[in-house]
Amino acid sequence: MQKKGVAILGSTGSIGTQTLEVIRAYPDKFDLQVITAQSNAPLLIEQAKLFQPNAVVISDESKYQEVKDALFSEDIHVYAGNQALCQVVEFNEIQIVLTALVGYAGLRPTLAAIEAGKDIALANKETLVVAGELVTARARAKGVNIYPVDSEHSAIFQCLVGEFHNPVEKVYLTASGGPFRGWKADALKSVTPAQALKHPNWSMGAKITIDSASMMNKGLEVIEAKWLFGLKNEQIDVIVHPQSVVHSLVQFQDGSLKAQMGLPDMKLPIQFALTYPERFKTDFPRFNFLDYPQLTFEKADPETFRNLQLAYDVLEKGGTAACALNAANEISVQLFLEEKIGFLDIARINEQVMLQTPFIAAPGYEDYVETDRIAREIVLKQV
Ligand code: NDP
Ligand code: MG
Repeated sequence: MQKKGVAILGSTGSIGTQTLEVIRAYPDKFDLQVITAQSNAPLLIEQAKLFQPNAVVISDESKYQEVKDALFSEDIHVYAGNQALCQVVEFNEIQIVLTALVGYAGLRPTLAAIEAGKDIALANKETLVVAGELVTARARAKGVNIYPVDSEHSAIFQCLVGEFHNPVEKVYLTASGGPFRGWKADALKSVTPAQALKHPNWSMGAKITIDSASMMNKGLEVIEAKWLFGLKNEQIDVIVHPQSVVHSLVQFQDGSLKAQMGLPDMKLPIQFALTYPERFKTDFPRFNFLDYPQLTFEKADPETFRNLQLAYDVLEKGGTAACALNAANEISVQLFLEEKIGFLDIARINEQVMLQTPFIAAPGYEDYVETDRIAREIVLKQV
């Protein structure tokens, strides 16, 4: 097998560093071409020295000189700024771009990679939430595959391998329920960022951890599933499964239900997105049934965790509604982390802003850009 050329957008984050672990385990399989960071120059420099990619990008331009100087004696191109992200993904040597940036910022480079004909290993779910219709249409037009990295979507994908011709009746996305599973509004009113940042089963970046606590993450994943697998809204269900062992399920039209299971470890879905259709041998710890005598399932609570309901609402509405919700949520999560708003304000603000942002039924790229900008402005004006 020829080595696969890989670019990692967001290599210094939780998904990015785990992707590097996967790449390091198979030096004869992958050729790391590009790594990028927003502002964590020291880690980007360390990664570059270790992995010797063709190029690095630091989005924060004020850190350019620091990175450039540190890599002076290495044969590595150094670029800065967001525009550079869109250019480096076009390198001829790249076959697949793993998108592990956070939020709306992933949209433009992902589209650029698709236009350049690169397959996508998608961790950055917000890209599909914001502009799923456009992104999947461009991928189809370009013959580009989008492989899910998100564990639930990887599970669905793994259930579908060998079944792509069989109609899906329904998918069940599992949710751990996060740190506040079973809590009601009264108790949630006063929770702190520190409490919300303690996820029971997964260690992840701050934004997705808060999204998990507020169930926005599961809402974003419902939208992500619609676009990745071409599903109707009523075909996507959420079931709370606190052990995070069943990563998601697919129900076929004969009633058969397939699940993908395993210990919670993002390296597996990351690796499968990079190696599909092959499975490489790993030394990851194996699942032991006796450690999990009970796997349990509960109904989700979209009344208390409004964000989950909002995700279904914007799916129903279509157009730019999900883009507005995503933008509102990015800002409200940040405000919660800065202790400027309470936990329940996140969903309250998200709903208001989603309703107040001008709606466009059949958006193009510029409409998404404008919707994102306006929704952010509305949040900041309100707080
Ligand atoms: P982190 O915050 O840990 O890492 C984000 C990475 O992207 C860092 O390299 C960061 O650089 C860079 N980055 C952040 N914002 C920007 C920006 N505006 N422009 C350019 N680069 C940026 O996030 P995670 O790894 O947790 O999550 C990444 C994506 O994957 C998210 O969309 C998340 O929803 C999704 N995901 C994550 C999972 C997880 O287990 N962590 C599971 C499933 C999905 P720097 O370090 O310099 O700030
Ligand atoms: Mg997930």
